Amino acid sequence: MESQSQKLNVIFLPYLLPGHSKPMVDTARLFAKHGVNVTIITTQANAFNFQKHIDSDYDSGYSIRTHVLQLPSAQICFHDEVENIKSGVSSDMLGKIGDGMLIPQDQVEQLLPQLNPDCLVTDQFYPWTVESAAKLGIPRLYFYSTSYFSTCAFRCIQKHKPHESLDSDTHKFSIPGLPHNIEMTTAQIEERLKTKNMMTDYLNAVCEAIIESEIRSYGTLCNSFHELESDYEQLYRSIVGVKSWSIGPVSTSVNRDDKERAKRDQKDDHIAEEPELLNWLDSKQNESVLYVSFGSLTRLPHSQLLEIAHGLENSGHNFIWVVRNMNEDDDGDSLPEGFLERMKESSKGYIIWNWAPQVLILNHPAVGGVVTHCGWNTILESSSAGLPMITWPMFAEQFYNEKLLVDVLKVGVSIGVKGNKFWTKSGDNEVVRKEDIADTVKLLMGSGEESKEIRIRARKLGDAAKRTIEEGGSSYNNLKQLIDELKSLKISKSLS
Ligand code: UDP
Repeated sequence: MESQSQKLNVIFLPYLLPGHSKPMVDTARLFAKHGVNVTIITTQANAFNFQKHIDSDYDSGYSIRTHVLQLPSAQICFHDEVENIKSGVSSDMLGKIGDGMLIPQDQVEQLLPQLNPDCLVTDQFYPWTVESAAKLGIPRLYFYSTSYFSTCAFRCIQKHKPHESLDSDTHKFSIPGLPHNIEMTTAQIEERLKTKNMMTDYLNAVCEAIIESEIRSYGTLCNSFHELESDYEQLYRSIVGVKSWSIGPVSTSVNRDDKERAKRDQKDDHIAEEPELLNWLDSKQNESVLYVSFGSLTRLPHSQLLEIAHGLENSGHNFIWVVRNMNEDDDGDSLPEGFLERMKESSKGYIIWNWAPQVLILNHPAVGGVVTHCGWNTILESSSAGLPMITWPMFAEQFYNEKLLVDVLKVGVSIGVKGNKFWTKSGDNEVVRKEDIADTVKLLMGSGEESKEIRIRARKLGDAAKRTIEEGGSSYNNLKQLIDELKSLKISKSLS
């Protein structure tokens, strides 16, 4: 039995966006379940999103707590704006995501010595924490919740610039240096790889700071698992030149039953809605429902919402669609006339406005497929549930993730998006048409040979995801090994 003074104290500093904070909070809970003393530093509004979990883990005897930072008033305004990225509109703010200004460095650095940490696990968007850890003489782990594959693909394009010799944005090139033949077009890669302007200069500078801090960190903690992308796990280590521990899928590790899953993604306004949703799902045949969601940030233009509504309706399959609006007051005007009424009457479609209990839905037996924007967390959550995907990337690294699903793992079908753009910049001529949507849904959810094979592979991947986090599995072992290594470091530090 370890005494309190022998126990590891690990501090987690999540970034203030759901796609970053959710996997980090899950990771923090996982550490606590492995006997580590855990403190999560965050702001009041963000703590609100996950505190229920922390309280219930604490009540179950785990040593985990949240330390809420009181932000200065100027910072609170800034922080509210960022909260609005999730629920709202401001695309300009997205460009500033990398600033890491949202949690003030001086406040964190004043606090850290009082918490007496043995290790910092911090989001990639806080590169300055490498210095904070160095001042305390403790390791900083760079937290990473995207695929190894996307980093490898990005770095190889950045280094070899295969797109620069092409005449057109729509011509394909192969990415040099990858173990698979991965073809992309210039239109699908990030703006900052191909255009020079104030915004791309700014983003490149932010990314340089992140990369520099990644190299100087003790290692990378990655929400992925060996069986999912083993080739790229290796390649990442050799390209970046750092140690990494794959410990995912973390959401599956800590949200094991429906009670946990419901708590993870529940906003208060969904508590009332959940029984109705579950009744609707319970009334459907196994694997007959398609879950359609574009993550926590993306908002689609009106023209695209119309095409999706018609495409889903025309496919004839059951679906749950999480609709996020440009306008907070909009509760149906953006959809085709009579659509909501028809879906209710036929019970074919279930619309959820703005925020869904995603992990709960994905693990319901009635769900048989997912339409995803290829956000990494959604990919992990869908893979763990053994679900095949229709890939509909929007921006950033999502196009690489699409390639991993469609070309490497072969558990996805592409809807055929041509250009990498923030949603606010896409015009009406770039919408995916209803015919393509209906055809792709029929292909994935139908009973053809291609669909059967994709389903078999997706199920196998789901089994691998579940095995890797059990005792003896590779993600489980990696975490144990990391915790042992951190304990040895703590002991050597105390002896020196
Ligand atoms: N999420 C959710 N409900 C929603 C939308 C998103 O619970 O309606 C969760 C989802 O389960 C995932 C995270 O938010 O854990 C989104 O992360 P992802 O990497 O998939 O996409 P991002 O939102 O970062 O683009």
